Amino acid sequence: MVSIAIDGPAGAGKSTLSRTVAKKLGFIYVDTGALYRTVGLKFLNLGYDTDLNCEIGDVLNNTTAYIRFVNGEQRVFLDGNDVSDLIRTPKASMMASAVSAKPEVREFLLNMQRKLAEDNNVVMDGRDIGTVVLPNATLKIYLTASAEDRAMRRYKELCEKGENVTFEDVYKDMVQRDYNDMNRPISPLKKADDAVLADTTGYEFEQSLELLLKIIEEGIKGK
Ligand code: C5P
Repeated sequence: MVSIAIDGPAGAGKSTLSRTVAKKLGFIYVDTGALYRTVGLKFLNLGYDTDLNCEIGDVLNNTTAYIRFVNGEQRVFLDGNDVSDLIRTPKASMMASAVSAKPEVREFLLNMQRKLAEDNNVVMDGRDIGTVVLPNATLKIYLTASAEDRAMRRYKELCEKGENVTFEDVYKDMVQRDYNDMNRPISPLKKADDAVLADTTGYEFEQSLELLLKIIEEGIKGK
């Protein structure tokens, strides 16, 4: 099986680009952030805040979170319900970041991610795909852009969805989330030594896509 691991900070365009690339290649696209968001939503629904003052393991023992593909599109389910849309709020983002620092949560989601890559050709995006989940991925890409660019892209996305947010709040949340993700003791966000760096600062979507496709063409040639 061929696996392309795409890691990077929030708002780098990982999901849109990975989805497009996967379609072009005929691979499945796995958005692992959606899984952390799903688990985060469970804790939100139980009334916890990002301090997560509770027995994480007990909550997980009473949680089912999984991915299904409906018409080729990933949907995520929490305790049997499709929560793919509910996980996209700023609150759910911060909660995803909080739960993702917990070793029990990472362990809970690890095998699911590996199994998807064992059974399918995948483009999988996240924070630790190249470093932890698929250390032997066929190709690893670290996708990034300046914090301003990333926050602006995310801000526009949220506005289009009708979320009532300010650019300042989106920027602040993003920087905070990056800090959390890069500085947690387990599976921190970092470029794998053997990952190709793709910096899309100042790029429009089409230019980023072109860059990525070029890296992929060269990276999986002959593999
Ligand atoms: O990619 P997305 O922004 O949806 O991810 C939400 C959060 O889930 C991230 O901020 C990060 O804390 C966490 N995450 C992670 N490892 C992954 C994917 C996401 O820790 N592989």
